[in-house]
Amino acid sequence: MRSDYDVVVVGGGPGGSTLSTLVALQGHRVLLLEKEQFPRHQIGESLLPSTVHGICRLLGVADEVADAGFVKKHGGTFRWGLNAEPWSFDFSVSEKFSGPTSYAYQVERMKFDKILLDNARSKGVDVRERCDAVDVLEEDGRIRGVRYDDADGVRREVRAEFVADASGNRSRIHKRIGGARRYSEFFQNIAVFGYFTGGKRAPAPGSGNITCASFDLGWFWYIPLSDELTSVGAVLRRESAERLKDGPRAKVLEGLIGECPLIAGFLADAERVTEGPYGEVRIRKDYSYIQERFWRPGMALVGDAACFIDPLFSSGVHLSTYSALLAARSINTALSGAIAEADCFREYETRYRREYEVFHDFLVAFYDMQRDEHAYFREAKNITGSSATDTESFVELVGGGASDESALISTAPSSSRKRRADLLERSRKIHWQGSRVQVQAIFGESMGDDALYEGGLVESPDGMHWARPGQPAS
Ligand code: FAD
Repeated sequence: MRSDYDVVVVGGGPGGSTLSTLVALQGHRVLLLEKEQFPRHQIGESLLPSTVHGICRLLGVADEVADAGFVKKHGGTFRWGLNAEPWSFDFSVSEKFSGPTSYAYQVERMKFDKILLDNARSKGVDVRERCDAVDVLEEDGRIRGVRYDDADGVRREVRAEFVADASGNRSRIHKRIGGARRYSEFFQNIAVFGYFTGGKRAPAPGSGNITCASFDLGWFWYIPLSDELTSVGAVLRRESAERLKDGPRAKVLEGLIGECPLIAGFLADAERVTEGPYGEVRIRKDYSYIQERFWRPGMALVGDAACFIDPLFSSGVHLSTYSALLAARSINTALSGAIAEADCFREYETRYRREYEVFHDFLVAFYDMQRDEHAYFREAKNITGSSATDTESFVELVGGGASDESALISTAPSSSRKRRADLLERSRKIHWQGSRVQVQAIFGESMGDDALYEGGLVESPDGMHWARPGQPAS
């Protein structure tokens, strides 16, 4: 039976809108089903440069994002580890990370996600909101489509060559991929968060920094979303979760703030927002997991539907949008018939897992509070294999760029092919795909690559397909 679409994407968060746009731009027929009516609230407000300057450019939406008035994030401030005093990093600390892409944004996800979803629509994706995917259609061991309830509550079925589950943490269909969702034994945190007006700001240029402050029960994030609005969340260790039963959430959050002097000081003259989408104090838990498998014939998991680590270091949207790019390559290539689906998705899973592991391993090291910042910096260098200084390695890693990211994203005319090739060689060496995405977005072409493993694939010159090493893409 002929498919109604080439691809059905479930979920219109950053992962789903990125994937659907990058497939539709290749001329394929894409349906995106989103349960909510946008704008809708979502957590995950602190972005990394690889999303802002890499993915958003590929999507053709970078200018719109730049014009949206989001707060520029030049770096971060930590009250963390053995050092009792807060310490900051700035992306421009590293010579190689300074330049036009040495910042990210703190975004209201209601606005950011809508920009990406509207962009998908304008690039040819059939976007349908208030459509709740309830199951997948399976025939002969292959996923063939999606069963969903439309905006009028009518149950429908749609057939497609591929289904991508980008419906996040609360996915209803991820189990159909097979294998279990493995919850982390290390990361078992619980987040309680709300929004405040009138919170203090650090002086420029650090006024848009994310602040992460540890305290006895865990740590706080403090994210300036505008001159007025601040996102404030406490991330509690599992054994501190009892505190959440101490009374109404707002009271609990207030109490926790009182136990963290740095955050309490920032919020001394602030008021919690009590109305509208930011008026609720929310709780999130059970968010650190990885699925045993990321794909099966006819279906792939993208973004949080596949895995998530922890809020520290703001890696979620980067991992989600980067995995969406990898999945788009796999789907585009499989649809063209140039390379077998199994090879395309093996490449997808290998690369996505590797990116996840870089963040995972560094996060595990960073949660060891018995170290000072210099030890964290060294650990960043060890994990990335960078030849930069320890501090630069750390700054570039937590900025989403890793070693030499700054130079990789430099648009200066001096970026000759030779220099670019040198930088890519380092990027390849440290296995840091975020930086490669940025290079691709800026230079408009993929850099080619050696395969990661025997029989592995490389990206095509336009970066939108896979190819066999040494062979032209279809
Ligand atoms: P989502 O953003 O979850 O989007 C999934 C979409 O699918 C939603 O729009 C949902 O409505 C839709 N959907 C769900 N079910 C269905 C269905 N049945 N049918 C149709 N549609 C459906 N990341 C950062 O980068 N920076 C941060 O500062 C950060 N802070 C975080 C703090 C906390 C406490 C937590 C838990 C996470 C944080 N994250 C952060 C992670 C970030 O929230 C996610 O990684 C990111 O939103 C994943 O994007 P996604 O597109 O994969 O999924």
